[in-house]
Amino acid sequence: MIPSILPTYNRAPMAFTKGEGSWLIAEDGRRFLDMGAGIAVNALGHAHPALVEALTTQANAVWHTSNLYQIPAQKELADRLVEATFADTAFFTNSGTEACELAVKMARKHFHEAGQPERVDIITFSGSFHGRSSAGIAAAGSEKMTKGFGPLLPGFVHLDFGDHEALTEAAASPTACAILVEPVQGEGGIRPVPDQCLKGLRDLADEHGLLLIFDEVQCGVGRTGKLFAHEWAGIAPDIMMVAKGIGGGFPLGAVLATEGAARAMTAGTHGSTYGGNPLGCAVGNAVMKIVADPAFLAEVNRKAGLLRQKLEGLVAEHPDVFDGVRGAGLMLGLKCRAVNTDIVQAGYDQDLLTVPAADNVIRLLPPLTITDEEIAEATRRLDVAATRIQASLD
Ligand SMILES: *Cc1c(COP(=O)(O)O)cnc(C)c1O
Repeated sequence: MIPSILPTYNRAPMAFTKGEGSWLIAEDGRRFLDMGAGIAVNALGHAHPALVEALTTQANAVWHTSNLYQIPAQKELADRLVEATFADTAFFTNSGTEACELAVKMARKHFHEAGQPERVDIITFSGSFHGRSSAGIAAAGSEKMTKGFGPLLPGFVHLDFGDHEALTEAAASPTACAILVEPVQGEGGIRPVPDQCLKGLRDLADEHGLLLIFDEVQCGVGRTGKLFAHEWAGIAPDIMMVAKGIGGGFPLGAVLATEGAARAMTAGTHGSTYGGNPLGCAVGNAVMKIVADPAFLAEVNRKAGLLRQKLEGLVAEHPDVFDGVRGAGLMLGLKCRAVNTDIVQAGYDQDLLTVPAADNVIRLLPPLTITDEEIAEATRRLDVAATRIQASLD
């Protein structure tokens, strides 16, 4: 008999009833050190007082009014994001997938209104992840996500990560519309696009008049030590997808765009019942107040250096288990030699939460508020887990 919850997830047999900072407390009282943060969502850890305060204050005032009316918290959040980024305008969604939907619609509408309706093709890369909607799976294109769900949304050109020749050709096509890329691939296995390549994508887009869309749903909101990951490369996109960390655990996403890219999105061209609701935006404002502070980002960078150094040490200690460290800031991946899911499981046995990714990687995406002591503790627990795995290999 089918379970009462549609069985689309492989869930670990744990349930958490409370969260405190970097810790999740299970039903049986076990305290797990959370190096996954709900897949880069709990950017400020669990039950951060500023977020609890923002949400409960808003909950006691008004929950929902709809986008028929002005929403002051939404305007405040849009102003904050515009102030802090390349963008001139923002649309709020409830998830990363919905941000992908709008990014695709916006790019195509842009060329339609510019008198180039043939420009519909969006160039994407192998190993990418943009959500599970029809546009999201068509954009990523992997067999695993698309098989059986056809006919797929047309107009996506899938290139191998790093195939420059194919990229140059695709960008020169008269039907090309946009390039869509995660500056650091998350689900694909914590694969950063080198700064030089991000700059190259910007140049290529400019050369051919294409829009550059960054999916910063996982790598954004302070995760890499800049407010948004592309800032490291010193360039900016035309359109950017944001979600996960921006709500700190409350469902919230956004599309940020330049005026030029967004111009065709006039009244009636897009909408969302819940997108930009007072609750989500109240939390988003509280997250932004903390994360956009340069002193906070400096701490993220310092702690990222510490975690990375400790992980390099682990790789050196357990060369049969781990192959190397990659990533940026507090978005780090351990490329494994042993089976990644076995290591994640061995971590669970040490009350440590990590997240598997493609390419046999385990992800470390801790709360950005993690302490030095918690970083040391996470490394100790991973060391025990890796020692167990090593013993099982011998
Ligand atoms: C998680 C993720 C998405 C999808 O976000 P949802 O909120 O799950 O819809 C899209 N792109 C990237 C890079 C992601 O990591």
